[in-house]
Amino acid sequence: MQLTDNNYYIGKQKVEGLCEQFGSPLYVYDATVIRERIAELKEGIGKYENADFFYAIKANYNPSLVKEIIGQGLGIDAVSVEEVHMALHCGATPDRILYTGNNMTDKEMTEVHELGVLLNIGSLSRLEKYGRAFSGSRVSIRFNPNIGIASHETNITGGADSKFGISFKNVEKVKEIAKEHNLQIVGIHQHIGSGWLRLREPILALDVILDIATQFEGLEFVDVGGGFGVPYRPEESRLDMNTLGMQIDRRFESFCETYGAHPVLRFEPGRYIVAESCFLLTQVNTIKESISRKIIVGTDTGMNHLVRTAMYGSYHPITNISNPDGMFQEYDITGNICECSDFFARDRMMHEVRDNDILSIGVAGAYGASMASNYQLRGLPTEILVDGDDVQVIRKRETFEDLLARF
Ligand SMILES: *Cc1c(COP(=O)(O)O)cnc(C)c1O
Repeated sequence: MQLTDNNYYIGKQKVEGLCEQFGSPLYVYDATVIRERIAELKEGIGKYENADFFYAIKANYNPSLVKEIIGQGLGIDAVSVEEVHMALHCGATPDRILYTGNNMTDKEMTEVHELGVLLNIGSLSRLEKYGRAFSGSRVSIRFNPNIGIASHETNITGGADSKFGISFKNVEKVKEIAKEHNLQIVGIHQHIGSGWLRLREPILALDVILDIATQFEGLEFVDVGGGFGVPYRPEESRLDMNTLGMQIDRRFESFCETYGAHPVLRFEPGRYIVAESCFLLTQVNTIKESISRKIIVGTDTGMNHLVRTAMYGSYHPITNISNPDGMFQEYDITGNICECSDFFARDRMMHEVRDNDILSIGVAGAYGASMASNYQLRGLPTEILVDGDDVQVIRKRETFEDLLARF
């Protein structure tokens, strides 16, 4: 989004006009940004000759975006059977999908196996069940390196009490189970958390997973997961992809030397690819003063459409695109859901907000639409994809009839 002649533009589209055309609230994606982020990843951390990228589809599973991402050569990391089906629907071949199910059922295990998709297993009991059911199969193992990091405490997936992965102490047990059932361990995996901008912990975790990997023969890949953060707050700086890439490359090359082979080094970015490609537009319908004299702005969307602030306390940048020259004032920006946690910002300085103004909630492409719900029986918003001059509706607004059809 760019400010020119007192108007915000995306490509050649005036942002404010988009709501007139497609209604409000509206998720707006920019395909150019998605392609740029993928190119940045490939250049920064894809230095190693056998580097590979699987997009974590849970960040945003809109098929139009997924097709674009697959078109850029990425595979898919799926965490549910439905996500596996979506990846296949969007054109991914089974060998370009990894299923990292958490607490999967026997039925889910069987279904994914029969689709020819590799399972990434994160518990000894599931590994045992998989071995008994499908002896002789190929499998990937998710380890917990006992190191975690994330933008919010709640998003740490590595560490002593995490429910994810097999403890790094259980390498021998994994080998025993694999041997007993003739399982071929082709991949070692970790994913330590989401939204990190610091390099220390990811590099420490890389050392642990590479140490584990040296204890397994014949690996086709080492998957170091995703979690690459993006700046949400104005004072946050971008992840230093080049430095990260050089550090990873150095370690992986020395691992290859010890290991005597060059397995694929795989990354699973989700947020990094889509987060900054999108903003959620919403129209102001209420402005009032609280008892403590705060100015409360009410909008036509809420935690049902973008839950990150209510759920994690996440910060999203918000811009008043209707009044780029307005005087700065302090506001609480709230949604239309009957819950106290339904807000997008507190005490936020913004260009003067007036009734009917359009606000843009930025960095909304990851874990925005994919986490949206029908709470309070409100339908999901329209999503559009802008690609240069081209604008496409990639999800139609949900109507009451759509909702009723499920019952
Ligand atoms: C969620 C997830 C990712 C992606 O995390 P981001 O923070 O979106 O990059 C990668 N791998 C696995 C197994 C995940 O569950």
